Amino acid sequence: MKVERLPLAKLTTLGVGGEAEVWTIETPADLARATQAPYRVLGNGSNLLVADSGVSERVIRLGGEFALWDSDLGGWIGAGVLVPTLLQASARLGLSGLEGLHGVPAQVGGAVKMNAGTRFGEMAGALKAVEIFHNGAVQHYSPSELGFGYRHSQLPEGGIVTRVKLDLEPLAEEAVRGKIALVDAARKGQPKRKSAGCAFKNPAHDSAGRLIDQKGLKGTTIGKAMISLEHGNFIVNLGGATAEDIYALIKRVQAVLPLEVEWEIWGRLEAKVGQEVI
Ligand SMILES: Cc1cc2nc3c(=O)[nH]c(=O)nc-3n(C[C@H](O)[C@H](O)[C@H](O)COP(=O)(O)OP(=O)(O)OC[C@H]3O[C@@H](n4cnc5c(N)ncnc54)[C@H](O)[C@@H]3O)c2cc1C
Repeated sequence: MKVERLPLAKLTTLGVGGEAEVWTIETPADLARATQAPYRVLGNGSNLLVADSGVSERVIRLGGEFALWDSDLGGWIGAGVLVPTLLQASARLGLSGLEGLHGVPAQVGGAVKMNAGTRFGEMAGALKAVEIFHNGAVQHYSPSELGFGYRHSQLPEGGIVTRVKLDLEPLAEEAVRGKIALVDAARKGQPKRKSAGCAFKNPAHDSAGRLIDQKGLKGTTIGKAMISLEHGNFIVNLGGATAEDIYALIKRVQAVLPLEVEWEIWGRLEAKVGQEVI
């Protein structure tokens, strides 16, 4: 196990966030130790906005045993494994079920927690069983017990996903790759700059990006953060953005649209006002 103070900007895809004590755990014994004080769980940091002042709780990262998987995808898979790695393996093995997650840069645990996915499929649909560490012990759940919905799950409070079993169907490799290509085509036009994916949840039967575009908010810039010109639901770090810049953009959108933030916000953030450049 490694314990170090690190800027979370280095561990999140938005590239912002102050320091925290990061516990990289490798064994169940590490997990038991790390959870003896208030903690947060970090996956690949691709759905997080972390305050510039960082967070006071321990930040737990899954390594060692929790990042292992069998090459045939048949057994338990560590929650610290990256979803894109599993998707590539499933294509090679001729197994279908993860294609809807193409382009989602999550770890398995983060994808379960957020029920990550696209209109082509979600994490919940690819799960057979989920192992969760909670109150000092692990327990196994079937997906139907975890309250999955749109970008939502109901894990036990403070629960850490440690491993999962996947529910994949045999399908010719070519067909799996064809499905991935479909999702890839639908993702064309998404920004390449640093982001955390969609900032807001889509309202029922509508698209948050379309609504933001309709309000003329694309290109709105605060400090070094911008509402992407390519996709209204992406807030991008132009290089050197602060969490406050990004948070101020969220507040700017919410001042005119009743949209719910999809990201998880860690730490204390206060929106700046009066610093907008269009
Ligand atoms: C370029 C880009 C494109 C994206 N496209 C999509 C998309 O198409 N669809 C989509 O749904 N999302 C998308 N996202 C958002 C993001 O990838 C997902 O929300 C993903 O599920 C987050 O996983 P993560 O491992 O990065 O989790 P993190 O961002 O690290 O954490 C997110 C939440 O999960 C919790 N968590 C992480 N690991 C565990 C664990 N082991 N046990 C319990 N809780 C845990 C964290 O505490 C936090 O609450 C995109 C992001 C980017 C940067």
